Amino acid sequence: MVKIGVLALQGAVSEHVRSIKVCGAEAIAVKNTSDFALVDGLILPGGESTAMRKLIDRFEMLAPLQQFAAAGKPMFGTCAGLILLAKNLVGNDFEHIGVLDVKVERNSFGRQVDSFETNLKIKDVAEDFTAVFIRAPHIVEVGETVDILATFDGRIIMARQGHLLGCSFHPELTGDHRITAYFIEMVRETLAKQVNL
Ligand code: GLN
Repeated sequence: MVKIGVLALQGAVSEHVRSIKVCGAEAIAVKNTSDFALVDGLILPGGESTAMRKLIDRFEMLAPLQQFAAAGKPMFGTCAGLILLAKNLVGNDFEHIGVLDVKVERNSFGRQVDSFETNLKIKDVAEDFTAVFIRAPHIVEVGETVDILATFDGRIIMARQGHLLGCSFHPELTGDHRITAYFIEMVRETLAKQVNL
């Protein structure tokens, strides 16, 4: 069974674990650096990116996370997780994991609409996905090799660059598991390629 890790330092961990299990994969809460070796792909959940970064540093996880990406293993950042994956952050002169070639602006949907739900068309995934946004970031710029999968209100809110996937919203909070299933398929494809080498 394919094994999907969820970085379990802070944020919406249990919801991702549930969604992974519903999709028929094994879910592992990643709490220590030794856990990275146990998983074929990793989800970085929503929560608070600054708090997560502090914990990543405390548990000396930054380099292992970067190595996970460099090894070609799929990673999926949702909301705060997208902020962690991004190479550039608006108003910040440093990045976190810094692997996904996008520039991200935090809390970018304004105070009045801190949290909202909307239906999205997502390339290769769904025509009508109900997405939950909570103090969400959005993608301001993408690099040449990044594929834009969804936009909302003229803003990029989901993108993929090879084995790296990121979205502004929380795909794990509703009963619709198609985005989790899409990521698990990315992981399966990566494993199949390794077997064929
Ligand atoms: N506003 C949070 C941050 O900047 C992200 C919110 C979320 O993950 N729902 O990290």
